[in-house]
Amino acid sequence: MDDYIDSVVAKVKERDPGEVEFHQAVREVAESLAPVFALHPEYQEARILERMVEPERVVMFRVPWVDDAGRVQVNRGFRVQMNSAIGPYKGGLRFAPSVNLGIMKFLAFEQVFKNALTTLPMGGGKGGSDFDPRGKSDNEVMRFCQSFMTELFRHIGPDTDVPAGDIGVGGREIGFLFGQYKRLVNKFTGVLTGKRINWGGSLMRPEATGYGTAYFLSEVLMANNDTLEGKTIAISGYGNVGTFFIEKANEFGAKVVTIGDEYGYVYDPDGIKGEKLEFLKPLWTEQRRPAKDYADEFGLEWVEGKRPWVVPCDIAVPTATQNELDGESAKTLVANGLRYIVEAANMPCTPEAIEVFRAAGIPFGPGKAVNAGGVATSGLEMAQNSMRLAWSREEVDAKLRGIMKNIHRACLATAERFGAPGDYVVGANIAGFLKVADAMIDQGVV
Ligand code: GLU
Repeated sequence: MDDYIDSVVAKVKERDPGEVEFHQAVREVAESLAPVFALHPEYQEARILERMVEPERVVMFRVPWVDDAGRVQVNRGFRVQMNSAIGPYKGGLRFAPSVNLGIMKFLAFEQVFKNALTTLPMGGGKGGSDFDPRGKSDNEVMRFCQSFMTELFRHIGPDTDVPAGDIGVGGREIGFLFGQYKRLVNKFTGVLTGKRINWGGSLMRPEATGYGTAYFLSEVLMANNDTLEGKTIAISGYGNVGTFFIEKANEFGAKVVTIGDEYGYVYDPDGIKGEKLEFLKPLWTEQRRPAKDYADEFGLEWVEGKRPWVVPCDIAVPTATQNELDGESAKTLVANGLRYIVEAANMPCTPEAIEVFRAAGIPFGPGKAVNAGGVATSGLEMAQNSMRLAWSREEVDAKLRGIMKNIHRACLATAERFGAPGDYVVGANIAGFLKVADAMIDQGVV
């Protein structure tokens, strides 16, 4: 069995040698699937895994735009439509200088399993651009978004592919993208999620990824007869996911003591709360300002060139980006008394880090389960758009909480069933795989 899995992974690497993040994501899933292939040869016969690692469609395009100084700029746009077996492609758009095809493919691949776990009818996709939103004016961002959508619009639609936000794409960008889409197709539809509330957005969508992470985390603790009350938590990012995670973690009685970015981190021993949290909320999501500004504002120490994982904590929640927590950081966290870790970002822990947590017996929640509340609430936004109705905050929050509980339960039940009790990675990967794989078999060789 391992030979079969190794050969699929080797083939993926051979085809696209440079796409290292994609290889990493594929390998993590593929390795979890050994017990599935052993019990169910039909998946191997139908070459389901080989089909899953090949996107149904990839669109790559030029995005030309004019900056405020009148200079022409050229970026690259992407949309990876990975799998539509259980619903229209669904997944965010990322605007960040590091974006390339390999990163888009890894994110789209993760999204397929994540979306399946939500139990909502959404396939998987991802897109974005190497455009850097930092230091750009509103007008520059608008012109960029309009140019980006001028090509993307022909590939998406409310029943085809429904993009949303991710790093560097929030309410402002979704607004500019939606405006241009509507102008091009002359239809007001639910083609994007993460819209602002007054024109079709869902209440709770901005909060959903962070709150959902906190809900999942509280389930993990409950499964260990523990609670969040009094726990110290280290996080990394301070965007939409990080700030709303802090808000909900505070409600649960925990204390979040760090945030950071690619340049360093700030340690706030009293916990980020009250007016400090209100200052932090728009810092990245609206102002695209560096994390150091938080340290400067409140007279806290800024530690240049280090990640927050050197700070002793009970729980670590990487909330920023892929591979931000490596094996060394994992060892430091464990040595400092770490008890739980859940990924709020997509693939923030390297395989070496995951191995360290596993060896130490520390419960580890993988991003595709932990952060699924964001896309789940996008699914709820799609449902509301289709009905032309809007649910109350309480209704959406109750649904989100129920979905996160179910994902947690499904991970544990599936892990148990396939001989890896307590292993959330195995549980999430197999549960997501089975749903998509069965739909693919039902639909024939397509
Ligand atoms: N970008 C988010 C994710 O990684 C949300 C995607 C969506 O809402 O479609 O799941």
